[in-house]
Parts: sequence; structure tokens; C-alpha cells
Amino acid sequence: MPLLVDPLTRLSVASLGLQPKGIQVKILGAGPTGSLLALALAQLGVNVRLYDPLTIQGLLERSRAYALTHSSRRLLQSLDLWAPLNSHLTTFTRLQLDDQELNRHTCFEIDDLSIQNQAHGAIGWILDHRPLMKLLLERLSKQPKVCLDLGEIKEQGLDGHDLVVAADGPASPTRKAWGIKTWNYPYQQGCLTAKVLLRGADHLTAYELFRAEGPLALLPMGGDVFQMVWSGPLRCCQERAGLNPSSFLDQLAAVLPEGLQPDVLLDRPAAFPLQLSLAHQLQHGRGVLVGESGHRCHPIGGQGLNLCWRDVKTLTRLVKLSNEGTLPIAKLPRLYARARFIDLFLVGLMTDLTVRLFSSRNVLLLMLRLPLMILLARLPWMRQVLLKAMTDGPISVVRLVSA
Ligand SMILES: Cc1cc2nc3c(=O)[nH]c(=O)nc-3n(C[C@H](O)[C@H](O)[C@H](O)COP(=O)(O)OP(=O)(O)OC[C@H]3O[C@@H](n4cnc5c(N)ncnc54)[C@H](O)[C@@H]3O)c2cc1C
Repeated sequence: MPLLVDPLTRLSVASLGLQPKGIQVKILGAGPTGSLLALALAQLGVNVRLYDPLTIQGLLERSRAYALTHSSRRLLQSLDLWAPLNSHLTTFTRLQLDDQELNRHTCFEIDDLSIQNQAHGAIGWILDHRPLMKLLLERLSKQPKVCLDLGEIKEQGLDGHDLVVAADGPASPTRKAWGIKTWNYPYQQGCLTAKVLLRGADHLTAYELFRAEGPLALLPMGGDVFQMVWSGPLRCCQERAGLNPSSFLDQLAAVLPEGLQPDVLLDRPAAFPLQLSLAHQLQHGRGVLVGESGHRCHPIGGQGLNLCWRDVKTLTRLVKLSNEGTLPIAKLPRLYARARFIDLFLVGLMTDLTVRLFSSRNVLLLMLRLPLMILLARLPWMRQVLLKAMTDGPISVVRLVSA
């Protein structure tokens, strides 16, 4: 540390290409990824400018709920955001997988978690978009290190900043302006999301129903309210989204297992296409891609936002090193891209294989699924490994195996 205070040494720090204190970061996109990153960096003492074409109202308005895993819980705790969100989190202590073609079930329970995660009494949590964004934006507006610039579009250039972060979502204008291409594998499936009142469902259980047309997830949101994430052929999703509420509930009732009855549709269903995508590179000069600007996967297994927030964690760790003067800022983008690649690749691969294996009536695939469902139900270690990959990220399993 004294190295940075001494004027002479400062010279040598600069000549080494290291960054003296006071990094300036520009973040494009104030969705859940960009906003969380801005807070994390500001808490390190970094100056942040955060831009989004949407106003506060626009940023709050989306009707969606996120399934949070233990990797996200740890990040929110480290940023002092977990306790204020507590009253908005719906805990689930069971994750039930139903293969509707084979009529087989498997349940993940708290015992299947690692000892450290068991102490938190949940397999995961469901959090609505609005309270999350409300808290993030409130904290950002009080944070002196953050300059919030909402309601207008800004250029992708450095503008005197040391680092530009593109957190501008799956269509990322910044990624396009930087000329970064993506690998895209559009699914035949689309996805329909809505909140419904369900009778007969367990309030502490998240359900993943494997159906030939695509998986259907039911995520508990307190009481009888569930967030439904219903995958199927995109045209079917669009048609269902246009149905009147009673016809919609009839169609939903027809695909739910016995004992689960949808009573009320609580919001307007929204249909959107699904695809697996990964940017060819996550860095461009002094710029990096974080969140869905760099990658996107199928919602099966609820990995999406958790994966985006693991980008935030890695980038924050590297910016901390640069801010302390131990990592030249010019090297940061490449190191970030390298550090994130394996996690992004493995999650993309895992979700893709699961969708292909479980969204089919192909006899060969059914023959593969049957022993898998039987083994999952019988072998606790198999459930533990799978749950660890889902809650702490697949790299944690790789580390465990190689330790
Ligand atoms: C229709 C839909 C429904 C979804 N439903 C669910 C769900 O129910 N559960 C779930 O877990 N996940 C859901 N997801 C996925 C989830 O929304 C993403 O994982 C999450 O939003 C990713 O966050 P992000 O901040 O990376 O991107 P985004 O949330 O897309 O945020 C990107 C931000 O960048 C801004 N922006 C755009 N252009 C610019 C620009 N030029 N300059 C600056 N800013 C810009 C946008 O206004 C936006 O605020 C859904 C996704 C979609 C598209």
C-alpha cells in the first residue's frame, strides 16, 4: 500500500502500467446485472457511471421472478443486500423433478446440499423482479461513487473511463458495435411466463415437469402464488399467451399433474423465443461483456441470472485488484474473459443436454432417461453432485473432484 502513496513510487507504478487509485468505470445497462455490478464496484471505492435508456419506472416494471441459488445468496450477502431482501424471498426446501412421459419422480431435499449450504435451510429462493430492482436502484441513488444516468442512450466509447462494461442484455447494441459475434443455437421451443394461483401445490416445493414439448417450471412465490415458466413450441406459446384467462387456465390444468389445479391467472402471460448463445469473446479493448450481453441459456434449472451474477463476482474481484494497483487495468478484460469461460461453457452445455434429453419421446432417449431417473431417486451422491453444480456452479464440482 505505501507503494502507492510515495510520489516516486507512483511514477514506477504508472510506468509498470498499473492503475493508481481511482478507477473510472462506465456501465451500459442498468438491469439486474449492471445495477448489481455498479453497487459492487462503488463499494470498492470505484467511480461508476451507469447508463440505461429506460427510466426508473421502466426498469422496475418487468413481470418476472428469478430463482436464486446459493452462489447468488453469497454475493448478495457480501454486498449487504441479502437481509433487506429477506421479506421478499420465498424459500423452497424441495425441488421436485417429474418426468411425465415415464411417470417417474425425484426429489432434491435440503440433505442433498453441501453442509455449508444446508445451514441456510433452503435449496433456493424465488425473488420477484420489482423488489430486487427497487432495492438496487435505491442503494445506487444513495451511493456517492455512482452517477446514475437513466432515460438516454450513451456511446460505447471509453469517454475518459478506464473500463467500459456492456450489461445491455441479450440484444446488446454494445456487443454489436464492438463487432463481437455470437454462437447462437435457437431452440425449437419458446417460453411462456406468468404468475398463477395454484391449488394443491406444496408452498415449499419448486416443481420442474419434464414434458415432450418442453419443461414446465412452477416456482413458489408465497401462499398459493406460483411463477410459471412453460416451455414449448414458440407458436404454441404465442397462441397460449393470446388466450383469454379461462381458456389459458384450462390448457394449463390439462398439462399439470393430478392434484395441481390452477385457479387464477394473476398477470398477462408473456411469450418469448429461447436460445443458447455465447459471445465469441467477452472482451474488446478496454471493454467487457457481462450478463446476458455475453451469454444466454435455456431457463431449465433456473441458471440465467445466477450465471450473470457470477460474471459480476469475477469482474468485481479483478477490478478490486486493479484499484489496489496490483493488476494493470489493460490486462483486466482478457483475464475476466478467461476466468468466466469454463463456467459459461459448462452451464450452457449442461442446460442444453438436459433440454434435449428431457424434451423428447424418442425411444432411445427414453431408454437413457429411465435409468437416470431411477439412479437419481436411489443414489444420494448423484443428487448431491447435481445439486452442487446447480447451486454453486459446475466449477465447484470440478474443484471438488480434483481436490
Ligand atoms: C421476456 C423475458 C422473460 C424472462 N423471464 C424470466 C423469469 O421469469 N425468470 C428468470 O429467472 N429469468 C427470466 N428471464 C431472463 C432474465 O430476465 C435475465 O436472466 C436477466 O434479465 C439478465 O439480466 P441483464 O441485466 O444481464 O440483462 P437485462 O435484464 O436484459 O438488462 C439489460 C439492460 O440494458 C439496457 N440497455 C439496452 N440497450 C442499451 C444501451 N444501448 N445502452 C445502455 N443500456 C442499454 C436495457 O434497457 C436493460 O435495462 C426472462 C427474459 C426475458 C427476455
